[in-house]
Amino acid sequence: MTTVRLADYRPAPYLLSRTDLTVRLWADHAVVEAALAFAPNPAAAEPAPAPLRLAGVDLAVESLAIDGSPLGPSDIAKDAVGVTIHQPPQRPFVLQTRVRIAPHTNTTLEGLYVSGGLFTTQCEAEGFRRITLHPDRPDLLSRFRVRIEAEQASCPVLLCNGNCVETGHLEGGRHYAIWDDPFPKPSYLFALVAGDLEEVRQPFTTASGRTVQLRLHVEPGDRPYTGHAMASLQRAMRWDEQRYGLEYDLDEYNIVAVRHFNMGAMENKSLNIFNSKLVLADGETATDGELERIESVIAHEYFHNWTGNRITCRDWFQLSLKEGLTVFRDQSFTADLHGASLNRIENVAMLRNTQFREDAGPTAHPVQPDAYQAIDNFYTTTIYEKGAEVIRMLHTLLGEETFMQGMALYVSRLDGSAATCDDFVRAMEYAANEAWNTGGPTAEHPRFDFEQFRRWYHQAGTPVLQIQRHWDGERGELELHILQHTPATPGQPQKQPVVVPLAIGLVGQGGAPLTPRLDAETPEQAKASKLPVCWGHGSRLLVIDQAETRLRFTGLPSQHHPPALSLLRQFSAPVKLELGRPVAELVHLLAHDSDPLARWDAGQLLLRRAVLARSQGHGDGQLEDELVDAFARILSDPSLSQASRAVLLSLPGQAELEDAASDAGIAPDPPALFAAGQTLRQHLGQALASPLRQLLQDCQQQWALSWPEGQADRRLTGLIWNWRITAGDASVIEQARRAVDGASMSLARLALAALQCHDLPQRHSASAAFYARWQHKPVILDSWFALEASAPFGDGLARVQRLLEHPRYDPNAPNSVRAVLGGLAGNAPVFHASDGSGYRFMAEQIAALDQRNPITASRLAKVLSRWRSYGPERSATMRSALEQLAAAELSPNTREVVEQCLAD
Ligand SMILES: [Zn+2]
Repeated sequence: MTTVRLADYRPAPYLLSRTDLTVRLWADHAVVEAALAFAPNPAAAEPAPAPLRLAGVDLAVESLAIDGSPLGPSDIAKDAVGVTIHQPPQRPFVLQTRVRIAPHTNTTLEGLYVSGGLFTTQCEAEGFRRITLHPDRPDLLSRFRVRIEAEQASCPVLLCNGNCVETGHLEGGRHYAIWDDPFPKPSYLFALVAGDLEEVRQPFTTASGRTVQLRLHVEPGDRPYTGHAMASLQRAMRWDEQRYGLEYDLDEYNIVAVRHFNMGAMENKSLNIFNSKLVLADGETATDGELERIESVIAHEYFHNWTGNRITCRDWFQLSLKEGLTVFRDQSFTADLHGASLNRIENVAMLRNTQFREDAGPTAHPVQPDAYQAIDNFYTTTIYEKGAEVIRMLHTLLGEETFMQGMALYVSRLDGSAATCDDFVRAMEYAANEAWNTGGPTAEHPRFDFEQFRRWYHQAGTPVLQIQRHWDGERGELELHILQHTPATPGQPQKQPVVVPLAIGLVGQGGAPLTPRLDAETPEQAKASKLPVCWGHGSRLLVIDQAETRLRFTGLPSQHHPPALSLLRQFSAPVKLELGRPVAELVHLLAHDSDPLARWDAGQLLLRRAVLARSQGHGDGQLEDELVDAFARILSDPSLSQASRAVLLSLPGQAELEDAASDAGIAPDPPALFAAGQTLRQHLGQALASPLRQLLQDCQQQWALSWPEGQADRRLTGLIWNWRITAGDASVIEQARRAVDGASMSLARLALAALQCHDLPQRHSASAAFYARWQHKPVILDSWFALEASAPFGDGLARVQRLLEHPRYDPNAPNSVRAVLGGLAGNAPVFHASDGSGYRFMAEQIAALDQRNPITASRLAKVLSRWRSYGPERSATMRSALEQLAAAELSPNTREVVEQCLAD
């Protein structure tokens, strides 16, 4: 395996201005002819004449010529991953190639492949080299013109990037289409689709008055399920015009839904290809959560047209340049449409359960990595979600106005180019300096050091703020002593302090915000205006950028206990806090904190403690009594929305619970934590029986409303069902059973989830009914596969084995694989069984999957990465499953992950 290093980046020796392709599709193969217009790069690092390297994987090369003269064996060197031309001309020239490929037997789902009779492509990151010989590097932007030829009957629709400029008939029942894309693009944004598809079309008028045809292409019969995706696309286009002033630039915008797809969706210029589960949906076939996710993914891919396509990445180390920024943009879009606070809470819960876990394990890497073996392994929550958090911190520190000025500068400077993460930060730095030089730093937007901020891109690991406080009740003075450190991660033993924007508040008795004076520790700090002097809306943004910081708040009311400390409001930085807070203080914050995120977080801390205590075999009765009282108040508080109730009462995810155990110095025991969560739900369901029953009746009034209306009531219904079924409520069991037959997919799936953990006749009949109803809809059936695979009772592995042999299970569809094997990984009692059987089973499955689809296999392999965090026995069995995997024949992708997991 070769390691690619950022430090080795060099500009390409030859620029590429045009990529002209002719793609002939046949019933059992395809032939691709390419004409690539090269010219020596005046900015090349190597002295001329440099060799020209063309990448090519699984291609049968039939011919190679320069300006019409064939290249002989002595002119080139061929290897398994491409061709080198030793001495290309030192003037502009055209390289002509002809290759033969086998899309029908391509199960990797990279390059050109066939999914259910449909020819389709996936080129990011390095799939284009499976279609034709090409430099295939993101910093080479060329103009594409593509002629597609195929049989008319089986492939009536021929799609590519850009505008269709010509179509026509050919002999033998074949036809062709020529597509021209006026915007130069890197090869990873190329896409081609050919097949029998139905189209839904709607016009969109841009802000400047141009008409764009929006076209959605789906398999025959799926047209009724396209309305939501089409409406979502239009909302996204309008939002990007209004918030960012960015308008669409071509005459048409195509989306194709494909069943076999490794990712969620792909932003190829003007021809987005989507996993069909992220397109096909309505209230009867998708849950509220799925509808919102579809809306956000459609928006995400659309937003890439500017942040990703028009401004692309110079190399794959810059992946977060487009992904972090675009995730930030899609999160802002969802927040604007559906409410900022709840959206933020959901994103933070997701970050903690996935990215924090990655940051603490053997595959931890910075937002901008400096080396990789398989780039496909870096499509991670660190690149995407932590990358978005880094952008969000800039937004928080600079404020909307300055951030948008930086954004406008970024777009105007770099449009049409391949850029780096640092190009983005530089644009923000320029805008910040402008703002600071004219208006000066303000209380809400303090000055900070950009050079130090850049460490967020280069240091892996989740920074920890250790906070100690000293309260002088007589004088009303509160001192905070904040120590910042980031744990060591693979390859990075030592870390430097980062710039942490820390939003805090002090919550007095009755919930009143307190606004004491803040004394800067040193005159320098005060002069640098790092410590703002006033409070906006009871919150204050501090910049914590030293290993050690001391702050003193004066003028607080004299009282015995310190005022409740509300920290990391709005989750102002992706960090962990270590601070001893008594139960009474957290209960006070849960009742009164005006910041929705900090309020939710106080409840999460209490719930984590309660689950952890139960998992240790001794429930904390006093804490649980406090929780019951606090939740009773939340259930009856008329000022709270159903949506707020639903999030405040949700238990932390399994990954967070394991993390909480590790933080408390206890080796996590996943089955025990899972069981503890269940018995806590049972206790809460019993103790709060009466208000829950009342609330369930209120929610029921809103069940029939269409998304987004009624979604909070449905979500709360699911939570109440879950708690009451766990508490053994026979009437709720029957109600949930009936909901599975009803018209709402949300309620049906919430009911299945609520019945999921109980070996009851109603659970089995609900599952059977759901299967019978949806067995012919693979997108929906995947959710049934996931539920069955994660049922925590009976012989779990035997059930999973039966699912893998089920006639409706499609081993070539990543969605189905993830449903069954991902479901197993989330099934704590079965996957983490103490005899190691779950781990061994998983290792066997990953090794087999790796033969067909390395990208999906290597992602799945990360479920075995946490072996070091468990107790000795579990740790040894998980490690031996990894060794079993390491002994198998593996793709470079999976080998890289397995070796990272086993590395000392
Ligand atoms: Zn993306």
